[in-house]
Amino acid sequence: METKQPLKENSTNQPTVKLENSEWSLDNFEIGRPLGKGKFGNVYLAREINTKYIVALKVLFKSQLQKCQMEHQLRREIEIQSHLRHPNVLRMYGYFYDETRIYLILEFAGNGEMYKYLKRQPNGRFSEPQTANYMAQLADALMYCHARKVIHRDIKPENLLLGIRGEIKIADFGWSVHAPSSRRTTMCGTLDYLAPEMVEGRSHDERVDLWTLGILCYEFLVGSPPFEEEKQDLTYRRICKVDLKFPAHLSTGAKDLITKLLKSRAEDRIPLRKLLEHSWILQHLSDEVRSRLPTFQIMQPNKA
Ligand code: AMP
Repeated sequence: METKQPLKENSTNQPTVKLENSEWSLDNFEIGRPLGKGKFGNVYLAREINTKYIVALKVLFKSQLQKCQMEHQLRREIEIQSHLRHPNVLRMYGYFYDETRIYLILEFAGNGEMYKYLKRQPNGRFSEPQTANYMAQLADALMYCHARKVIHRDIKPENLLLGIRGEIKIADFGWSVHAPSSRRTTMCGTLDYLAPEMVEGRSHDERVDLWTLGILCYEFLVGSPPFEEEKQDLTYRRICKVDLKFPAHLSTGAKDLITKLLKSRAEDRIPLRKLLEHSWILQHLSDEVRSRLPTFQIMQPNKA
């Protein structure tokens, strides 16, 4: 008889299996502790019974989604995220539903939320080497998305999770679209991460993700986003003017990269491949992160 293993969270010991099934149901899973609470429901640690594979099960209430007219957005999120396969993009293995709920079967991110991890750092900011390694992972993942005409549009610490080795996992494709998008942006929440073309309601393309990478790089290194103000109209004006101020502790290399990402005109922003070749990134890129980035594996096929 097989002994029942406790539902442990060490996903480095995950069985190497393919989690594929077109007819999932709750019967396929043992449910563990809650991992977090979202706007539309809760996320639980879960184990697929046959394979013992650990996942995160996100449970969304249909009634709440309907109330906020989010069904369309969720459908798009599922359609986009379930087709992406990159080490720094959170996998979505599948979904199922019952009368009242929708369940998303997600890759379990063992180190939780980037936002909380950032806030726990001394002075609420990361070191330059750590930030450069995060930026390289994000640039690689976004290159992969953009090659498939997927724009994320909402890269910020709240939408990033951390895997068991501390690697970045881009999650929450709720605002992502297939490029190009000429739709006007519905503004909600904070303006801090929005590119000038988005705050002005102009059409935009995948280069909005370059802007948000610049904002994220600044927030990682400084502890707050560059145009943060109490009043939204002030933030709005500072974004449109690219009114950028750097604290004294930032290196020339970090400032150079941020300045090259935060360009008002999308066509002036440094492309992702060039970001990966930027001297500040290369100076800090660890062998471990480099060895996991698909772009570097393609560029150096013979490197062990
Ligand atoms: P969300 O509804 O996506 O905002 O998720 C709510 C919270 O659940 C997040 O803030 C995380 O703390 C946690 N969470 C969501 N997805 C995962 C995951 N795939 N792995 C680990 N924790 C997660």
